[in-house]
Amino acid sequence: MFFSMSKFLKSEYAHRLSSTELDELQLLTKVFPFKVSAYVLDELIDWSNRHTDPIYRLVFPQKEMLIPEHWEMLKKAKTFTEEKMAIKTIREQLNPHPDGQMHNIPRIGDRILGGLQHKYRETVLVFPAEGQTCHAYCTYCFRWAQFVNVGEHKFKTKEQRDLHDYLALHKEVTDVLFTGGDPMWMSNESLFKYFDVLLDSELNHVQSIRIGTKALAYHPQRFLGEEGDELLRYLEKMIDRGKNIALMAHFTHWKELQTEKVKKAVRRLLKIGVQIRTQSPVINGINDSAEVWRDMWKQQVQMGMIPYYMFIERETGAQHYFSVSLARAYQIFTDAYAQVSGLAKTVRGPSMSAWPGKVLIDGIVGQGEIQRFVLKFIQSRNPQLINKPFYAKYDEQATWLDDLEIDPALQEAIEEMKEEFEENSDSMTGVA
Ligand SMILES: *Cc1c(COP(=O)(O)O)cnc(C)c1O
Ligand code: SF4
Repeated sequence: MFFSMSKFLKSEYAHRLSSTELDELQLLTKVFPFKVSAYVLDELIDWSNRHTDPIYRLVFPQKEMLIPEHWEMLKKAKTFTEEKMAIKTIREQLNPHPDGQMHNIPRIGDRILGGLQHKYRETVLVFPAEGQTCHAYCTYCFRWAQFVNVGEHKFKTKEQRDLHDYLALHKEVTDVLFTGGDPMWMSNESLFKYFDVLLDSELNHVQSIRIGTKALAYHPQRFLGEEGDELLRYLEKMIDRGKNIALMAHFTHWKELQTEKVKKAVRRLLKIGVQIRTQSPVINGINDSAEVWRDMWKQQVQMGMIPYYMFIERETGAQHYFSVSLARAYQIFTDAYAQVSGLAKTVRGPSMSAWPGKVLIDGIVGQGEIQRFVLKFIQSRNPQLINKPFYAKYDEQATWLDDLEIDPALQEAIEEMKEEFEENSDSMTGVA
């Protein structure tokens, strides 16, 4: 069972909130997307402590997500048209498309393969049309705009053939990553149509199939029961045929790891040989403490999962409310990393998925005037930049790569990459 705001308001769950809270939620969810699963409502949220409960804050938009001016705009709007205008203005001011127009959409000749994205040489991303929604929405989601249809930036594909033809031409691709939304929202039938393509012997160079999902946290039933059985049988078949299946599981907090359902789902997946790697952004007010990350990584390792990424949240949505500075994120990561065994040290971070690549904050060195961040690319459009440390002037407030003053030579190299990309993006036929 999944609840939109109108369905939630009509449900018995609404009685758990005060009338002021309900009024605020109604206004907030005009701007921000909202959806929640019965599982989250029943098994994850601590209703009596909801104001501080990380899971409540994870799915229920909070009053402070709108700045006072935006509240004014919403409350002042009297007619339907005025309200619509206010919502539009507010959304536009929340930087709905942090990546701009540059989307690395691959082509074959004149054919534009709209639901694929190919940024790093080894990995092609797939955005299946049926998977462009989630079981519940995270309040900090960087893809929030696509759930409320702002602009036409929705990537999606229904063309399994596009995926096949593109991969057949690109033998350098070892990984295919299904993403969304949440691809696990799709029915087995839809999902298997995409997987079938990847079993073709022409695509033997595709070694790993990754599925980016928050279903283990929001709807672990997806891996249980009859539907789950059928899914697991299919995944096992792919493993038997030589593919590595990696579930890239989004877990925001250790509280999502506690229920019998999630434990059972994880055990079933591991038993057939699926790898589970975990990732999440670090978010103010939800998981911005070393203890939360330490305990999350420890529990994940105990359950047999592999900690993979700590991300910096992109600059979109209620950024003023959720953002954690680079300096603070580094401190949280470092304090947590120092308290776990080597088995949890597979995690990398904090990492920014910026335009030129994934940038790791690797250290803070020096004092006073000469204090600097040590950074490095762990993924890049230009493989020559990978794993080479570079410096940026220390800035306590900085929250993204763009805020930093980096080595001038590297800054120049990035500018050149951008220019080249913009020039070629019309005629490009592959890795951008
Ligand atoms: C993170 C990411 C990948 C995968 O990178 P890995 O380092 O292999 O995990 C691929 N494509 C895009 C666009 C990404 O942001
Ligand atoms: S699961 Fe991912 S795509 Fe879905 S709402 Fe959360 S952050 Fe966004």
